[in-house]
Amino acid sequence: MVNLECNVKSCMHNDDNCCCKNVIQVGGGHACRKDETCCESYDERMGDRFTNMMEQPKHMLDVKCTATNCIYNEDHMCRASHISISGMNAAQMDETKCASFEMN
Ligand code: SF4
Ligand code: SF4
Repeated sequence: MVNLECNVKSCMHNDDNCCCKNVIQVGGGHACRKDETCCESYDERMGDRFTNMMEQPKHMLDVKCTATNCIYNEDHMCRASHISISGMNAAQMDETKCASFEMN
């Protein structure tokens, strides 16, 4: 499991810089840079009435990841102890990224 912080406020799963999901999917099959990754579990926040009130922020979660060029990728799972997902001004999935990507 990975300790994750996320500053993507426009995602409905974000609560106070934490993610409320138990598992997320990071994409970046051919990524050679951080910018070429994204959080594929991003869902646009459509307003408070669409926020799932049952969701609680998770500090540790499983991170599936297709960015196999990253040193932390092992069998499509992230093995880093801590990662940051970023996208302060993201309005869609493509504008998020894994800021912890390190080229192998
Ligand atoms: S962008 Fe990804 S990591 Fe961040 S809150 Fe949304 S689903 Fe979780
Ligand atoms: S640190 Fe690497 S392996 Fe972990 S989620 Fe980010 S890109 Fe994927």
